Amino acid sequence: MLNTPERITTDILVIGGGSSGLWTAKGAKEADPNADVLIVDKSFRDWGGLMHLSGGDLEVCRGGDSAEDWVKDFTYYWDGLCQQDVMETIWQQSHEIFEEYQRLGCTYLKDDEGSYRSVPQRSLDHVRLFPVAVKGTGGPNARAAMIREMERLGVRRLGRIEITELIKKNDRIVGAVGFNYVTGQPLIFQAKAVVIAAGIASWKPSYNQNTACGEGPCLAFRAGAVLRNFEFLHIWNVPRDFEWEGQTVLMPLGAKFVNREGEVFMNRYSPILGPNTDPHYITRGMALETLAGRGPITLDLSAIEEKDHPIVRPKAGRHLLHYDKLIDEGIDFFRDKFEWITQVQLSNGAVETGENGETAVKGLYCAGRCRSLDPGVYMGGFALMTTAITGRMSGRAAAEFIAGAEAVDLDTKAAASMLEATFAPLGKEGVTPAEVLTDLQKIITPYDVSILKTAGALHRAQQQLQQLREEKLSHLAAADPHYLLKLEEVKAIADVTDFYLTAALFREDSRAGHFRADFPHRYDDWLCWVNLYNEGGRAVPKKKFVPTADYKFPVERFYCDNFTF
Ligand SMILES: Cc1cc2nc3c(=O)[nH]c(=O)nc-3n(C[C@H](O)[C@H](O)[C@H](O)COP(=O)(O)OP(=O)(O)OC[C@H]3O[C@@H](n4cnc5c(N)ncnc54)[C@H](O)[C@@H]3O)c2cc1C
Repeated sequence: MLNTPERITTDILVIGGGSSGLWTAKGAKEADPNADVLIVDKSFRDWGGLMHLSGGDLEVCRGGDSAEDWVKDFTYYWDGLCQQDVMETIWQQSHEIFEEYQRLGCTYLKDDEGSYRSVPQRSLDHVRLFPVAVKGTGGPNARAAMIREMERLGVRRLGRIEITELIKKNDRIVGAVGFNYVTGQPLIFQAKAVVIAAGIASWKPSYNQNTACGEGPCLAFRAGAVLRNFEFLHIWNVPRDFEWEGQTVLMPLGAKFVNREGEVFMNRYSPILGPNTDPHYITRGMALETLAGRGPITLDLSAIEEKDHPIVRPKAGRHLLHYDKLIDEGIDFFRDKFEWITQVQLSNGAVETGENGETAVKGLYCAGRCRSLDPGVYMGGFALMTTAITGRMSGRAAAEFIAGAEAVDLDTKAAASMLEATFAPLGKEGVTPAEVLTDLQKIITPYDVSILKTAGALHRAQQQLQQLREEKLSHLAAADPHYLLKLEEVKAIADVTDFYLTAALFREDSRAGHFRADFPHRYDDWLCWVNLYNEGGRAVPKKKFVPTADYKFPVERFYCDNFTF
């Protein structure tokens, strides 16, 4: 029998307290200081999401640089799948965020003359990353700065709460339900607007992705929002035996992946760009080299100059601890050869929104990685900058929305019955979430499902997922509220796996982060996003063409054309 749910009322409910959730709250409170803003997060209160664990480096279009030039770079880099108007607004605001972080006490690397150091990204003409002053302090400093802001602005925060469903009334979002997984207390939140800032999904690999399980896009989808960019996975390359944070700055500084014969194999796949490119292209090369018997793959860092060591060598915090441990084990990261492998790190799918984060559902906004911007290929410093900007946008928009919206009472009975369904597996005997997670990892990991995709392999994965649903997912059980949280997480990861397979099968084209070995070229009739619509609970893929006629810049250069796989 369910405990009586506790009811909590607020004006704006922010789900997720990472970079985007914190910037959402900041944006909302600055727009309307009288609004009550509540952040709930499933991890501990004020942990700061993945930002806390991150390098803290930022991509910034600085004053004097042209946002238009950056949009041209992105249009080229993303093979046309770029919302040019949105990206122009984002890069216009990036300098302001950079200044604000410094006002809040964060520091960025400068040279002896006092000028900012920056690292060009992915051989692009303009896009650059600005590293933090002391490697290893960036994420914790940014988190601490934002928590001080929450205190100053009077933002309420609660931790250890998993949100499991959104509540709608008359087609408008009026709240959410969830539970505290330490006490087991069921909760009903009544809100005038809800912002999902809950990140995206992973299959819980290394690289600190434990909390990224995709509940955000799944909540939005069930409420009627549209999903986008699910065919793109975030594929990374990582040392096989340990974690290293921040490898993508290494390539622009001269690092090169080599095969067993010592050959810089990316020169073969892209004589134009060679080894200095994005992990999504490099991991394709790694997979092909390994399949051809030329593995293992190692990283040669010998070309990195002494003057660049402050950008890459940890000086403090968790990253230094990690580095010192490697030294204790007799491993010198900068000199020794060790194996690197490909890793399915994250799903790239998220929610389609309008410019200010508004979704197809009234009263519901999305921010940060939960809001879909990019087609998979990545650039260092992109996430922290765009999560801050899209968070602030959603916060401002939600504040504006509640000012003009009447309060709607939510149906407590309906909310309680949602909670009953959530709590049904609690205390039962059954399949553990950990077992299902391992099965999901096995489904997604094979090269032909995640990197060199084929229709046959994607169909095989769909069948495996269906079998998993019938045999295990429908028999999931949780011994206590903590495992009920884990159960919710794997249910979301299973749905994300389904979205991924559906979208990856649908796109019969290769561009940006998606490569179909059976359709290895880009085709003009695929200059579109793949949107997923909720039709009776099923994710139905449809093309949404890039509105090239409305955009400032023609789509005529394609980054993917630099490669032949
Ligand atoms: C090791 C590492 C290094 C990185 N370095 C950099 C870098 O130098 N520069 C850069 O730009 N990016 C970097 N990144 C990426 C960047 O940190 C993240 O992409 C970004 O912080 C994501 O912000 P977010 O708010 O969208 O999501 P998250 O940080 O994932 O926040 C989402 C929050 O929602 C909570 N949540 C999820 N589901 C629920 C639910 N159902 N109910 C309640 N709460 C929920 C989670 O606990 C989490 O706190 C790094 C990431 C890692 C892991």
